Amino acid sequence: MATHEVVIAGAGPTGLMLAGELALAGVDVAVVEPRLSQELAGSRAGGLHARTIEVLDQRGIAERFLSRGQAMQVAGFSFISLDLSDFPARHQGLALWQNEIERILAEWVGELPVKLRRGRAVTDFTQDESGVGIQLSDGAALRASYLVGCDGGRSVVRKRAGIEFTGWDASTSYLIAEAEMDEDPAWGLRRGPRGVNAIGKLGDGKRHDVRAPDYDDWTTATAEGFAGLNGDILVWNPVLEDAFEISSMGIRVDAQTLTRQLALCGDEDRLQLEWHQSLLKGEMPQTIGGGIGQSRLTMLLLQLSHIGQVQCGVWPAQVKESVAGLL
Ligand SMILES: Cc1cc2nc3c(=O)[nH]c(=O)nc-3n(C[C@H](O)[C@H](O)[C@H](O)COP(=O)(O)OP(=O)(O)OC[C@H]3O[C@@H](n4cnc5c(N)ncnc54)[C@H](O)[C@@H]3O)c2cc1C
Repeated sequence: MATHEVVIAGAGPTGLMLAGELALAGVDVAVVEPRLSQELAGSRAGGLHARTIEVLDQRGIAERFLSRGQAMQVAGFSFISLDLSDFPARHQGLALWQNEIERILAEWVGELPVKLRRGRAVTDFTQDESGVGIQLSDGAALRASYLVGCDGGRSVVRKRAGIEFTGWDASTSYLIAEAEMDEDPAWGLRRGPRGVNAIGKLGDGKRHDVRAPDYDDWTTATAEGFAGLNGDILVWNPVLEDAFEISSMGIRVDAQTLTRQLALCGDEDRLQLEWHQSLLKGEMPQTIGGGIGQSRLTMLLLQLSHIGQVQCGVWPAQVKESVAGLL
């Protein structure tokens, strides 16, 4: 059984930062993370405050963030912007999406002696006088002097340790949507009779998460005037801590919808692919899904974190490397 001084559950911003700090202090540290890469679906935090940049500066890595974001004053209180320009600090703030923040932190941690165990989650632990025994979702176990729960708001480590997360019921809710617009809207924050809303531009101008244009018809309106999921079966996956589609996938659009959706997503080059061509020429039936849905259902029932644990496939070297520990 692998043994470390510290095992961290979770490679989000908190887990990565802690791993880096411990490694710099000469501590033998491992991180367990279900996600196979640092990618996040959708937008989350949008910037760093002055104090955070100062801490990153003390570690010699502030420039990595500054060079990829936009320096600006991001401090505010109750939607009132605060002017920090006369603060005796080198940095006032930085606009940078969490996706990018996590990517940079992971690059930094990758340069340090940190063992990053991706594709598995901490499922349980037992504590005794000399340390902690840690169970992982792939059936393996680890031993450590300390286990740190950096596994997010629904933390398994926190719950298993019996630590409550008490508070008040939410009184406000927020919705984040990413969309492509034909014209520049009025940017910025506004208050209206139905609450506060803001429109901002994504750094690279591209949406983080898009629906595949060649599965499912998500553009043809129903009789009620809705277009959307089209019968997909989505469930909560507790291992991946994410929404999970278990319905069968495959080309289930007709030629007209395929052409329209590829154009909407700017993916017209896919029209030349063999599958797509067969559908366009009427040589292939509209429904060919099945395989991946069954594999995903198996993954869910066996509580596994990667599809490669339940099916065979041909993968590029980078993918093989990231799941090597699992297979
Ligand atoms: C939609 C959305 C919008 C947000 N907007 C903002 C914003 O505008 N500004 C702001 O400051 N913050 C925002 N946040 C909050 C911000 O994203 C979080 O504060 C931040 O991600 C917390 O970092 P973390 O590392 O503590 O946890 P997380 O980012 O949640 O990371 C936890 C990690 O643990 C992993 N994990 C989960 N379970 C296990 C397990 N059992 N074993 C091992 N690993 C596990 C997860 O895969 C994940 O990588 C937003 C969050 C969301 C969801």
